[in-house]
Amino acid sequence: MVEGAHSHFHPLDRGDEQNRPISPNGAPEPGRLYEVPARCGRAVRLHAGQRLTIINTHGSQVCDFWAFATVDLCEFVSMAHFHAVASKLTPAVGDGLTSNRRRPLLTLMEDTSPGVHDTLIAACDTHRYEQLGARGYHENCSDNLRNALAAIGVRVPVVPAPFNIWMNTPPADDGSISWRVPVSRSGDRLVLRADADVIAVMSACPQDLVPINGEDQIPKSVAFRVDWP
Ligand SMILES: [Zn+2]
Repeated sequence: MVEGAHSHFHPLDRGDEQNRPISPNGAPEPGRLYEVPARCGRAVRLHAGQRLTIINTHGSQVCDFWAFATVDLCEFVSMAHFHAVASKLTPAVGDGLTSNRRRPLLTLMEDTSPGVHDTLIAACDTHRYEQLGARGYHENCSDNLRNALAAIGVRVPVVPAPFNIWMNTPPADDGSISWRVPVSRSGDRLVLRADADVIAVMSACPQDLVPINGEDQIPKSVAFRVDWP
């Protein structure tokens, strides 16, 4: 969407539906399915041991993912630190999502997709869409993170580089990066176990100017649930 229904909204002044938290403080109900509407973000508080299942409802939607340690929001999942600790680019089942203090805040327990995710690309932001030619305000994952946290009364000092679940932007041998459609399918899910108390945030990426969210370039919703051990 270059000029669309939401282009006149200020990023922190969008409608109730856009910013509605799952509960006043982000605490989930066990087993309840929550939707992250297309182009929106949601925050959820997890206690250590709880499992977060993220579902690619439509199959082709990228979900930007962040997690912050509840006791100190200056500790967060950092893909650059994951690369160093795990000696690999992409988390697979059994891998921890490493924090900037080099400990796992969550562990990947299950992934029904082919396991293609991105850990290199920064979250989209207003500058990204300006450079792609968008006019007016364009929803973006960085504002979704800030808005989802603000909706539960939390602010963070930075937008860390996210774990871009289902994003298919592989680096080639020559170091170049291509922007491809996801290889995930409808109903694919990824299960993360919290290894500490964390605040997790998911953004249904609003990117519609490159085909990372499918050939139709139409951003869609994702869903999630939290289960107790
Ligand atoms: Zn995005």
